[in-house]
Amino acid sequence: MAEVELLAITPDAETLIELAGRTCYLSHDRSEPGSEQKFIGMLLRHGHLSVLEHAYATFRVKGGSRSFTHQIVRHRLASFSQQSQRYVRETDFDYVTPPTIAKNPEAHVRFQEVMDEIRKAYGELQDLGIPKQDARFVLPNAVTSEIVISANLREWRHIFSVRCEPPAQWEIRTICIQMLQQLQKVAPTVFSDFVIDEDKMVAFIDQSA
Ligand SMILES: Cc1cc2nc3c(=O)[nH]c(=O)nc-3n(C[C@H](O)[C@H](O)[C@H](O)COP(=O)(O)OP(=O)(O)OC[C@H]3O[C@@H](n4cnc5c(N)ncnc54)[C@H](O)[C@@H]3O)c2cc1C
Repeated sequence: MAEVELLAITPDAETLIELAGRTCYLSHDRSEPGSEQKFIGMLLRHGHLSVLEHAYATFRVKGGSRSFTHQIVRHRLASFSQQSQRYVRETDFDYVTPPTIAKNPEAHVRFQEVMDEIRKAYGELQDLGIPKQDARFVLPNAVTSEIVISANLREWRHIFSVRCEPPAQWEIRTICIQMLQQLQKVAPTVFSDFVIDEDKMVAFIDQSA
């Protein structure tokens, strides 16, 4: 399972969002301890989500596949730094085994055989003087790739809304749910309307919240 670590979040994120949002109404005098919950709840209900862009969160994901990273980097409003296959040698690469393959003994054996063969071919290409940036052409989607992702909290909400729902692919769904769980601890109101079903590993926005 991929390792998901919240590296950073804007300090006092919800207080900052309230402060920024109250500027629209010049209602700073109504700010008091705990008032950010009601205020941010109002922003969510009204779809006034641009105010959430004042706060950022950064995650590091280790052990996700290149299949996962290829999907997450499609989110254009986020920023990424990813392990390079041009500079990092992949001779002993780790890989992700999809659960459907892991629980099918015959498929699992075949899958492992192919991974071993790719490792061997990658090493042989290196021995033949092929540079890493070209030897990597034989690497599979399953190869793991470390990535750091930064986005504002509005974009994180958008990412979770499309990547945690049932149509999303299982790996990105599982990783995004881990990120959502961590953000619900540190910015609980901003993500309060997301409901997580851990049994099915899905999450969705509760429209009635
Ligand atoms: C279930 C699922 C299946 C998918 N299948 C495929 C597939 O088969 N093939 C494929 O290529 N991709 C696929 N994708 C990826 C998808 O097409 C998007 O590229 C990806 O989800 C990023 O979404 P986004 O553009 O909404 O978000 P972001 O890039 O994160 O942008 C956030 C929001 O900003 C706004 N925005 C950003 N850029 C622009 C812009 N240039 N113009 C106007 N508004 C903008 C939009 O409102 C957008 O929703 C799939 C995604 C999902 C969730």
